[in-house]
Amino acid sequence: MTRKIAILGATGSVGQSTLDLVERSPERFEVVALTANRNVDALADAARRTGARLAVVADEGRYADLAAALSGTDCRAAAGEAALAEAATGEAELVMAAIVGCAGLVPTMAAVEAGKTVALANKEALVTAGSLMTDAARTSGATMLPVDSEHNAIFQCLAGSRSEDVSRLILTASGGPFRDWTRERMADATPAQAVAHPRWDMGAKISVDSATLMNKGLELIEAHHLFGLPSERIDIVVHPQSVVHSLVEFVDGSMLAQLGSADMRIPIAYTLAWPERMETPSERLSLADLGRLDFEDPDTERFPALRLTREALEQGGDAAILLNAANEIAVEAFLAGRIGFVEIAALVETALERASGTTPASIDAVIALDRETRTRVTDYIAKADADA
Ligand code: NAD
Ligand code: MG
Repeated sequence: MTRKIAILGATGSVGQSTLDLVERSPERFEVVALTANRNVDALADAARRTGARLAVVADEGRYADLAAALSGTDCRAAAGEAALAEAATGEAELVMAAIVGCAGLVPTMAAVEAGKTVALANKEALVTAGSLMTDAARTSGATMLPVDSEHNAIFQCLAGSRSEDVSRLILTASGGPFRDWTRERMADATPAQAVAHPRWDMGAKISVDSATLMNKGLELIEAHHLFGLPSERIDIVVHPQSVVHSLVEFVDGSMLAQLGSADMRIPIAYTLAWPERMETPSERLSLADLGRLDFEDPDTERFPALRLTREALEQGGDAAILLNAANEIAVEAFLAGRIGFVEIAALVETALERASGTTPASIDAVIALDRETRTRVTDYIAKADADA
């Protein structure tokens, strides 16, 4: 039996890995909708290959190009926010939510509200609107399957266990490209150095997040929402080899871990085939070749993002929204060469000073606060530029 799948963010790193798996197993999947931000060529190419019926480009200015690129096919071209939501809620049974950033919140939430099975890569959506999203899933009956390798590992380890038997979650972190750098050296880090991740090949934003360890902080908040454990029962351990993808500790002292090569197709495949499994072309691990696995405590002095995210989670309310928005703007500014690497966390810390303790009651309120924070941080960076 084939499953109808929509891929939001089909042109990105997770989107392309998803397409790779789907195209290798045409007997399992029928692609119904694909979306992208502006990359019309890659989107149209994927739509032609898979026979998708709907292709959506978020940027309305690219609509004419998309329509031209799809002429002569049965695939309908569309653009803009309403069309993104249509891709997320139409005939798909399974929705891969792989847009990067808070930009994915509205379509991801639409899929959840429509009761879809949602493979969730877009961690920023959970970080900014976690409770709204998990509440909506309960109401609609949607199933959320974590794509993020750590959360996918935990999800696999939890299979068949009772929530009251879980004592602790342990997220592993590779430590990123600056794991052994001093703060002084990090101050001069370039975008090229920051996106050169030692283990994983990913989009630019998450690669910078991995260098600041903000990614692990966002994952801490993500784990809290997905698995319902408080901050003090979610630990982080640095594991440079990225072989153990995360662990669960149970009340009897047992620990379960999931291991595998650092290939996102493994966790993606688990969400695509769940509750079954499917073949992937990923490299198999040889433990003897690896020889050893290392673990160490993270350093929150050199990587303040870890402290800031934990504080935001413990503070609750709107803190995670401010943190995420400030980080997205700061990462963009860093990639554009406008601010230094260590300023990313500094900007996030400043933005967090305005946290009110109140949780926004709707997605519209989350988005309003996200936009307001983006504007404030953007203005702040522009002013610092002008003063310099
Ligand atoms: P990416 O930058 O490679 O791709 C992002 C996708 O989102 C692209 O298809 C792009 O067109 C689309 N997009 C970007 N801005 C948009 C907008 N404003 N509106 C609509 N669409 C937009 O990112 P990625 O690395 O694939 O990451 C996607 C998500 O998955 C992120 O939330 C990331 O944290 C998460 N994730 C990624 C990996 C990985 O290995 N890449 C691992 C774990 C989690
Ligand atoms: Mg991850």
